[in-house]
Amino acid sequence: MNFPVLLCSCYELGHQPLSLAWPLAALQEAGFPVTAVDLSVSPWPEAQVAQARLVAISVPMHTALRLGVEAARRVRDANPEAHICLYGLYAHLNAGFLLGRGKEETALADSVLAGEVEPTLVALAHALAQGQDPATVPGVTTRTQDAAPVRVRPRYPVPARRPLPPLERYARLVVDGTHRLAGYTESTRGCLHTCRHCPVVPIYRGRFFAVPVETVLADIRQQVAAGAQHITFGDPDFLNGPGHARRVAQALHREFPQITFDFTTKVEHILAHPHLLQELRELGALFVVSAFESTSDAVLARLHKGHTRADLERALEVLAAADLAVQPTWLPFTPWTHLDDYLEMLAWIRAHGLVPNVPPVQLSIRLLVPPGSALLEDPENRRWFGPLDPVHFTHRWVHPDPRMDTLQQQVARIAETAVGQANPEAAFAQIEAVAYRTADRPPPPPLSLQASPEPPRLTEDWFC
Ligand code: SF4
Repeated sequence: MNFPVLLCSCYELGHQPLSLAWPLAALQEAGFPVTAVDLSVSPWPEAQVAQARLVAISVPMHTALRLGVEAARRVRDANPEAHICLYGLYAHLNAGFLLGRGKEETALADSVLAGEVEPTLVALAHALAQGQDPATVPGVTTRTQDAAPVRVRPRYPVPARRPLPPLERYARLVVDGTHRLAGYTESTRGCLHTCRHCPVVPIYRGRFFAVPVETVLADIRQQVAAGAQHITFGDPDFLNGPGHARRVAQALHREFPQITFDFTTKVEHILAHPHLLQELRELGALFVVSAFESTSDAVLARLHKGHTRADLERALEVLAAADLAVQPTWLPFTPWTHLDDYLEMLAWIRAHGLVPNVPPVQLSIRLLVPPGSALLEDPENRRWFGPLDPVHFTHRWVHPDPRMDTLQQQVARIAETAVGQANPEAAFAQIEAVAYRTADRPPPPPLSLQASPEPPRLTEDWFC
């Protein structure tokens, strides 16, 4: 079919982008000439932009959307005839801004879609190739037509990775002082849970979809053939379907007993599945990413996290019994987090020996409230959030204690300087110093720097 399609991704936490590889496979199967470019590691594809009739840009997270908007502007300038589609969680949440609703000028995007997007992207390409109005394609949101995110399980093709940059260009696993090539896949999409601040929730509404084990394994197989020695399961929560997770890990271990892996799961699941965690460790799991978020029960309740501070303690015990390292992620700046809570969190991380497990950026994260966030559904929460700042893709909020907003900016600067440095203890000490100074309290004694061995981690830190 003579209808060139260009797929772009902007930033996916240093992984080879699955959000390109999956639609690429679906569009190739449908017979479209497709090029996929990861703008985070490749130069601007001038020739492909000039030729493309459909340019689809993946924006699964906030940072990707910021970059995606710039990419869309460049595409529009270079090729005003091309149809620009933004797809992914953040595309749908910010559809009004991206489609220029209520504005006279040309929109950044002609359509947006989210959810299980591959068949819809193929249908959109077919419609455009045949000169049809994209608004007639189910699942496609345009300036004149609203469509719900696609929540129908598709047939998942094996992701097409061969045209993507090699794994050497992406984040690596660091373990025992060595760097190893890492791959990335997902065994499920969406999430069973409804934590209020999470961007998955407005799109999937508590649903998740399992990718067939043989498709997951085929994707792993091609990455192992390309040199991967470790696989990240980037599912929003790997243990939403515990039986499925076990089958995937067993299949992986049966075929590649030397391959290690990491996965993300919530505290509730850690507590519910201690035996499964031990089994996953035996099957090659090295570490677990888990959204601890806060040590304040009041904040955890606001977020509907389904766990308490006491559960964090129990989760650490379960993980230690399974001999699994943890990378806790945090949401330290919310309108409900007081300065004392912040100090409490730092003290808790220190007391549990987790300083090397927490990248400094995690201590700087400020709550984002994108349009459509489930936080806005709760009338009690609404008074905390101001109007939408569409250009920054979040509702504005200021902390009732101005010291917290200043502290957040100071911590963000420390975290920025610490990126790529091998010594999280030094940044942690700086963060402690500034936080205790803000509270006008003496900081705790210096950390012992010869402490614990470096936990396994990826070279690119998680953030949104
Ligand atoms: S468990 Fe994780 S992915 Fe699921 S809704 Fe909560 S924060 Fe989002």
